[in-house]
Amino acid sequence: MLQSLSIERTKTKKRQPAADQLGFGNYYTDHMFIMDYEAGRGWHSPRIIPYQPIVLDPAAKVFHYGQTIFEGLKAYKTEDGRVLLFRPRKNFERMNRSNERLSVPEVPVDDCIEAMKQLIAVDRDWIPTAPSTSLYVRPFIIATQPQLGVAPSTHYQFIVIMSPVGAYYSEGVNPVKIFVESEYVRSVKGGVGEAKTAGNYAAGLKAQELAKDKGYSQVLWLDGVHRKYIEEVGSMNVFFKINGTVHTPALNGSILDGVTRRSIIELLGHWNVPVVERPISIEELYEASRKGELEEAFGTGTAAVISPVGELNWQDDVLVINGGQTGELSKKLYDTLTGIQMGKLADPYDWMVEAVSAPVKA
Ligand SMILES: *Cc1c(COP(=O)(O)O)cnc(C)c1O
Repeated sequence: MLQSLSIERTKTKKRQPAADQLGFGNYYTDHMFIMDYEAGRGWHSPRIIPYQPIVLDPAAKVFHYGQTIFEGLKAYKTEDGRVLLFRPRKNFERMNRSNERLSVPEVPVDDCIEAMKQLIAVDRDWIPTAPSTSLYVRPFIIATQPQLGVAPSTHYQFIVIMSPVGAYYSEGVNPVKIFVESEYVRSVKGGVGEAKTAGNYAAGLKAQELAKDKGYSQVLWLDGVHRKYIEEVGSMNVFFKINGTVHTPALNGSILDGVTRRSIIELLGHWNVPVVERPISIEELYEASRKGELEEAFGTGTAAVISPVGELNWQDDVLVINGGQTGELSKKLYDTLTGIQMGKLADPYDWMVEAVSAPVKA
């Protein structure tokens, strides 16, 4: 399918923001990738074009029934000029699991990776190199059929846009304060919590807003049935170090299967740090803290990589973790993972994939 990839370069390059202006998801590169899907024909017309608005019929199903999927991964420029992607196959495999859940057609994983590499090559000058900056890549699919019946769309667009980003939290890798949400829930087993689809995030905004008003940067979601078991922190998976063992909620059908989560579990395994995936109740966490056994807590995700948790508030019971400081293991995981991602540390697990090889020196 990609044999027919066409590339139209922009005639008006945008001015690039300074590294300290980036923030997260505020600027977009000069180009984007698009391909179309039509039932009976499959994915077709792959093209790289100048970054531009898309024109859709107001009846396009995505606007009404939310049939849409997204992914997020990062590209890093190394000191020797190569461009590395972190486990990109995992993202497109997950995209296909999300697609399956929302009755969206499967995407060709190898073609998606290749298209993304070509797009990155075209816009390689946009990859920032300052510490903790990278190029965030956002592939997504929208249902475009202009038809108001509640049924899977017959037409879709797969689009990749890219954004140079700085640190996810303006505060840096400092511990965040988290509000434990007891009223609203993110998802329930059998729903779409496992899929990276827009509705999950729209449903979470209210609680996030209320938590922000109380001075908390994110919410910790509890399970939708009992409001008892810990699910995720905002849009990150979550880990707790209790008495030397690392615990993380088991994938239960309502939690997103994070690539960072998986990688942290693998890293801990290689380091012989005991790690268990199981249901963890919020009471149990408070109990562990009372006994002085709760040593560290951190969220994991592509955007922030590792985000230490310094404080929880559950029904006005405030729990301070590790004196509100970044824990030793959180720090080591952050340094190791970002070191591998930026090509500064060896990559013994073959996680990194070269998107662009080093420029030939004259
Ligand atoms: C994307 C996402 C994560 C993190 O997944 P990564 O693959 O590690 O980036 C966790 N939870 C939710 C709800 C997410 O959307």
